[in-house]
Amino acid sequence: MHDLTRCVQHPAVSQDGFKSLAVPTHRASTIVYDDPRDFARRAERGLDGYTYGLHGTPTTRILEAQLTALHGGARTMLVPSGQAAVAITMLAVLKPGDKVLIPDHVYPPVRSLCAGFLAERGIAHDVYDPLIGGGIADLIDASTRLIWLESPGSGTMEVQDVPAIARAAQARGVLTGCDNTWASPLLFKPLAHGVDVAVEALTKYVGGHSDLLLGSITVNDFGLRKALKDVLGVLGIGVSPDEAALALRGIETMGVRMAHSGRVAREFAERLQDAPAVARVLHPALPSCPGHEVFLRDFKGASAVFSLVIKPEFTARITPALGHLSLFAIGASWGGTHSLIAPMDVAADRTVRPWSPAEGLVRLSIGLEEPGELWEDLSRFLAALDAS
Ligand SMILES: *Cc1c(COP(=O)(O)O)cnc(C)c1O
Repeated sequence: MHDLTRCVQHPAVSQDGFKSLAVPTHRASTIVYDDPRDFARRAERGLDGYTYGLHGTPTTRILEAQLTALHGGARTMLVPSGQAAVAITMLAVLKPGDKVLIPDHVYPPVRSLCAGFLAERGIAHDVYDPLIGGGIADLIDASTRLIWLESPGSGTMEVQDVPAIARAAQARGVLTGCDNTWASPLLFKPLAHGVDVAVEALTKYVGGHSDLLLGSITVNDFGLRKALKDVLGVLGIGVSPDEAALALRGIETMGVRMAHSGRVAREFAERLQDAPAVARVLHPALPSCPGHEVFLRDFKGASAVFSLVIKPEFTARITPALGHLSLFAIGASWGGTHSLIAPMDVAADRTVRPWSPAEGLVRLSIGLEEPGELWEDLSRFLAALDAS
């Protein structure tokens, strides 16, 4: 063999006796076939067959199968981000003339997707009160095709009555999709509560280290799965096996990370109720959080993200006070090992459940730092808020 050929042809080595606990990272654009007849018949391999790297490799399939098992669904599909998971679900389900209902506390880019991109393509949306429960039935009309849920909601943390909304939707033949990023399937399984599609930003707790972007869509129905696969195929959307490999590493420690951070977050949330600048703590495990009773009924526990409502007279000091933090980093995309804090402009995103523009809101995500040192850091922020 010529050296140039040798550079291209990888020698076969024995894999006998090699067994590792890690999932191999299989990279591929081309999938090769042993025989031209197999190649000609590749479409017959079905939705799970290997035909082209874009449509999956054993690495991505393993993560998909793991998420499917955790959700108790029929099939999971990986997509490049949490936002892509929401957008692709809506694109697969909604056609011109259809309407989607979204909760007022929805992850803000989803509201933009509906108000802009989907509206321009003849798909309507209505915004509903996240605490509407079974009352959603009154908002369903002949054009309603999908009801979107997110529980608890981004920033303001209202816990939705997912089973009641799913029942009302089912009774009218309307599909439901739920963004389950906050809970992960360890704390809440939307499909077990009657939802048709569960989406998650794996970017957050599954990845767990603030270094990857990935999303998942889990369905309980093979028809939906075909519709989603078709959209992924024609839009040319697939994910890198390297991102999947990082997520496969992250998911192994997700349980202990979430249990630890969840415990610390809960303790901090309780203590923060006494801070003079804090009007309310929005943590689903506390009675001050809207939907608290639903949380107790439906969730196995709380993750490590919650919010503080800051009293109007202290809001002007939020920005300078954040400068007193040294362990908490300022930023979005929570769920990693580093604790984060982010001021959020809620009023601008509310149309159904008004939010007083005078009140401030900061969202916290507790990481894995030593809790005593984290509390000291937070105390400096609270003291600075108070120093007026
Ligand atoms: C972060 C987040 C998303 C988007 O995830 P990306 O992977 O960053 O696109 C969607 N929904 C919720 C609730 C989120 O917190």
